[in-house]
Amino acid sequence: MSGGAGPIAVVGGGLAGLTAALDLAEAGRRVVLFERRPFVGGKAYSFDDPNHHVELDNGQHITMRCCTAFQALLERIGCGEIVRYQDALAVAVIDPSSSGRRVSVLARAEVSWLRRFGPRLLPAPLHLAPSLTMYEHLSTVEKARLALALEPIRRMGESERRALDGESFADFLIAHRQTVRVIERFWDLIVLPTCNDRSAEVSAAQAIQVFQEGFSRESSAADIGNFVRGLGEVAEAALARLREFGGEVQLNAAVSSLTVEGKTVTAIGYGRDRELEVSGVVLALPPKQAMALIPAGWRGREPFWRLGQFEVSPIVNVHMRWDRAVMGRDFVAVLDDDAQFIFNRSKLHGWADEHWISVSLSGAHELAALPQAEVSARVERAVRRALRRSQEATLLASRVIKESEATFRPKPGMGSHRLGARTSIGNLFLAGAWTATGWPATMESAVRSGHAASAAVLEQAGAGGLR
Ligand SMILES: Cc1cc2nc3c(=O)[nH]c(=O)nc-3n(C[C@H](O)[C@H](O)[C@H](O)COP(=O)(O)OP(=O)(O)OC[C@H]3O[C@@H](n4cnc5c(N)ncnc54)[C@H](O)[C@@H]3O)c2cc1C
Repeated sequence: MSGGAGPIAVVGGGLAGLTAALDLAEAGRRVVLFERRPFVGGKAYSFDDPNHHVELDNGQHITMRCCTAFQALLERIGCGEIVRYQDALAVAVIDPSSSGRRVSVLARAEVSWLRRFGPRLLPAPLHLAPSLTMYEHLSTVEKARLALALEPIRRMGESERRALDGESFADFLIAHRQTVRVIERFWDLIVLPTCNDRSAEVSAAQAIQVFQEGFSRESSAADIGNFVRGLGEVAEAALARLREFGGEVQLNAAVSSLTVEGKTVTAIGYGRDRELEVSGVVLALPPKQAMALIPAGWRGREPFWRLGQFEVSPIVNVHMRWDRAVMGRDFVAVLDDDAQFIFNRSKLHGWADEHWISVSLSGAHELAALPQAEVSARVERAVRRALRRSQEATLLASRVIKESEATFRPKPGMGSHRLGARTSIGNLFLAGAWTATGWPATMESAVRSGHAASAAVLEQAGAGGLR
């Protein structure tokens, strides 16, 4: 069934929409990208702090070497250098509760490392073994137990993994002899920032995908990539490239309706009473916003009713300006709910005279519900506990950014609700980090979903389904 005679409308200027629009424009299609805000980037954007004249991100983002689609997008839009990868995974993990306590003849427990050794020395997953052996935040018995879960995860095939979607990762871990303490001090260190919730709330299938992708296959897969410039540059570069390929962009243009005739979208409504005849539509929106555009008669039907099954999980970021440098490393992980990951923004961005850090708090359901001042005070206390140098320093400014709907909540059972690009409306396609990419809601997932949607559009067009 063919749509109208107009262009393909891509709705949503996040990474998913930008990727889909770029693909389609490069393939020679007429594309119009609609974004309701005055800027693109969606959940990954920067802004100038007017009080301090620095560029801050809505939330500190990282990527990993296994996020190949995202890195390829960066290269394609001429932004490859914005990410600086570690030579080899190395994460300093601070446990403020054991400050200075000597736990063995060799080590103090306050800082311990998770790192990999080179592939020539040890292939995956053994590349992590020496550092796990030396990880001081677990006892020897607890470390020995890790293998009881790591090994089944490494060996698990895709269908076996998918079958675990209905159970929580914590249940899986407990069934594999992991204790609550081991979950909190090791597994959640990785699950929380990648899945944006704790093991008890996350589908086992989703968390296992993260461990398989990051730690079981390529030894370099989990090497962390930090941004050395603001995230806004990525979105702007994608937008510029889209325009070069003839794509049209409508900013400040919220799409408010889809006109569906039979099983075809023929037009979209946007802005103030404007309408555009379209040949196809990619909705690159979070599930709730996508659902709002589905015509009422379709909402209860397959696949659209599934959009209503998604819940959201917040990320809170606290950007802090200090009177002096309070940390030396690029970033650290902290075994403290109110600190989690602390990034040395000044060091990463090369700001010589400013001392900014960014504290990133995933799955921060409790903090997100508190007033900003309280969040700020709690996080300051946590930073002072974690970073010794901050104890003598003065906090000059603190800016809290709550992203209440940062990602979908990957609860047990959600795997079956994540949708592919195609829908039962022939020329209506879906994209977004929440779609069925297999990845948690990340930039990688967003980019993959954009490619999947553009591929589906082009396939449909090739089959004569779009004009
Ligand atoms: C604070 C924070 C930290 C994060 N950290 C990381 C990280 O470290 N690593 C990582 O990989 N990922 C991270 N993520 C997740 C990542 O940013 C997202 O998964 C990804 O950017 C989502 O892209 P998207 O295009 O699917 O959706 P979105 O970015 O949500 O894009 C949707 C777009 O649609 C627009 N829109 C909505 N309704 C309409 C409408 N009716 N008409 C037109 N436009 C509309 C919105 O304004 C938005 O621009 C983080 C997210 C947040 C919020």
